[in-house]
Amino acid sequence: MKVGVIGLGLIGGSMALDLQQRDFAKKIVGTDNNPDHIDIAKKAGIIQEEGSLAEIAQTCDLIILATPVDVAPGILLELLSQVNEETVILDVGSTKEHICRAVAKHPRRSQFVACHPIAGTENTGPGAAQKKLFDHKVSIICNSNDSDASAVKKAEALFAALKMESVHMEAREHDRHIAYVSHLSHITSFALGLTVLNIEKDEKSIFNLAGSGFASTVRLAKSSPDMWAPIFSQNASHVSAALGAYIEQLMLFKETIDEGLMTETYDMISTANQISRILDGIELKNRQKSFVKSEFNSGEVKIAPISDWVSNLQRPLVISGPCSAETEEQVMQTCQQLAATGKVDVLRAGIWKPRTRPNNFEGVGTIGLEWLKKAKEATGLMTAVEVANKQHVEEALKHGVDILWIGARTTVNPFSVQEIADALQDVDVPVLIKNPINADLELWLGAIERISGAGITKLGAIHRGFAKYGETKYRNAPQWQLPIELKRRLPDLPMICDPSHICGNRELIAEVSQQAMDLNYTGLIIESHINPDKALSDAKQQVVPERLAQIINELVLRDGYSGKVITDDTLQALREQVDQYDSEILTIISQRMQVVESIGQYKKENNLTILQTSRWNDILNHSFAKGEKLGLSKDFIEKYLKAVHQESINHQSAVMNQLKN
Ligand code: PEP
Ligand code: MN
Repeated sequence: MKVGVIGLGLIGGSMALDLQQRDFAKKIVGTDNNPDHIDIAKKAGIIQEEGSLAEIAQTCDLIILATPVDVAPGILLELLSQVNEETVILDVGSTKEHICRAVAKHPRRSQFVACHPIAGTENTGPGAAQKKLFDHKVSIICNSNDSDASAVKKAEALFAALKMESVHMEAREHDRHIAYVSHLSHITSFALGLTVLNIEKDEKSIFNLAGSGFASTVRLAKSSPDMWAPIFSQNASHVSAALGAYIEQLMLFKETIDEGLMTETYDMISTANQISRILDGIELKNRQKSFVKSEFNSGEVKIAPISDWVSNLQRPLVISGPCSAETEEQVMQTCQQLAATGKVDVLRAGIWKPRTRPNNFEGVGTIGLEWLKKAKEATGLMTAVEVANKQHVEEALKHGVDILWIGARTTVNPFSVQEIADALQDVDVPVLIKNPINADLELWLGAIERISGAGITKLGAIHRGFAKYGETKYRNAPQWQLPIELKRRLPDLPMICDPSHICGNRELIAEVSQQAMDLNYTGLIIESHINPDKALSDAKQQVVPERLAQIINELVLRDGYSGKVITDDTLQALREQVDQYDSEILTIISQRMQVVESIGQYKKENNLTILQTSRWNDILNHSFAKGEKLGLSKDFIEKYLKAVHQESINHQSAVMNQLKN
């Protein structure tokens, strides 16, 4: 076989040496944007022939793209448009999502296989190429469903010739995983190098003083900036998350050392010693295998493709209808107007309404199912209702409801979810599970597992936001990170956003719907009512059918929208979570100040001074102890408490002075 190698560095060069030596390649043709590299490669027997991109594209059976990751997608597109139908191209870059996205729409996408053979040294260029570099290592093949089966086979044969084990993984998972096991170690090494260079300006003394510990830890700091800067940039959000976790560990070490907590330091080191098990390879191999397995069957939860229960879905699934069924006319008119927009796939209506306080409208009950059945007959659309117990399930199914959903107040209660699951044994109906009211992913996942345990495979999740503290613009904080994490754990699970319950008001619905589309959600559930202001429940958040259609029409679907996978907006989701916490902290501090003012009044009436030193010392001491348990430094606790204390004194003085006047 004639093999082309583009990029004659350490990886491309080392692959070429073994492929030829082991008779996988009869001839290797290569190119590099650095003419010196081509010369060295020829002299070292890495390539037999130099060839242009076009020559390689037209004459080689298999092409290895081994350039830095920032230029690889451009070259790949150029190659794909020139190769003949039999040629397979594989890349070996350290980030996979970016390149997969770049070629996703190319008509010849299936001739490309996204790969990452995991091996390397800190040295660069063809001079560093070495034989047997890949022996007994692992190569990751990503998104192989997008490649021809025969192309994947060719890539696997190549890695077998390099004595590598091939494992399969989604590109996104690869990037997240590799951020920890490879990218983070390089950054750590660069940062260590910089730290010591900055402190020890005299490089000679570093060399002399450096023990082998320093040398082996900083080894990777010699790695090429051409290669690594683009990798960090392409994998920024995962690398940032990995760095965050690492910085936390560094801070913990600093703190225990600052505090003289030798036992804690000892414990941390002995825990870290367990890394030898992983380095010995036994665990790593097992873990990679089980990791890959869970990629393919999502653990125990079997999920049917959404096309099994909605036909012809060309765009996001839209579920719409009133929060509650109120009267037959209201249900019929709303549903007919919604159907007339042509934008709606499923009609919803609440039949039994879980209200927070008694004596609010609790739904019309079973009669509403009759109305919904008529609406279904009149429009030909599917219907969906919320069920909270066995009787609801039975009534809904008896009335021909097509889709059931479990509400946020039910998902929190495993007894209720299990009761529903038991009622669903031997029933084939799609079930959508709303997130629980509180931000607890395990609870959400647990409910999905229970319903799955009943044999239901037509599953979906509805993200309706989470209860929050304090004022935000949302009724229920979206905390996007949670549905994203759920999707990571169950990649095949359709995710439906409920902007109505997240927003609690009409104005924000379009914005949140768009956000969900940008995260590649599969669908939307939006409440609609012919006369929203008069609605018996959730009046503020319902929209008229015409507005619903407008919201759907105005959605912008990003390139690559598939409705299958949430794209990586981890950073944005994490920032929103931080904003949410900040807002809650400020609300709680303001509540604290109100209590402080009451104390001020009490002190004034009882003729006590504002500052009572023993009380202040008590606060400090118990907060230090609590802070230590929570991983907050003493220094921070002290600064924080002083600021809060000062603000409290100001509030109390204001109250006391006011009382004087
Ligand atoms: C509803 O969809 O009307 C409803 C009650 O929603 P949730 O369970 O999300 O509060
Ligand atoms: Mn509602």
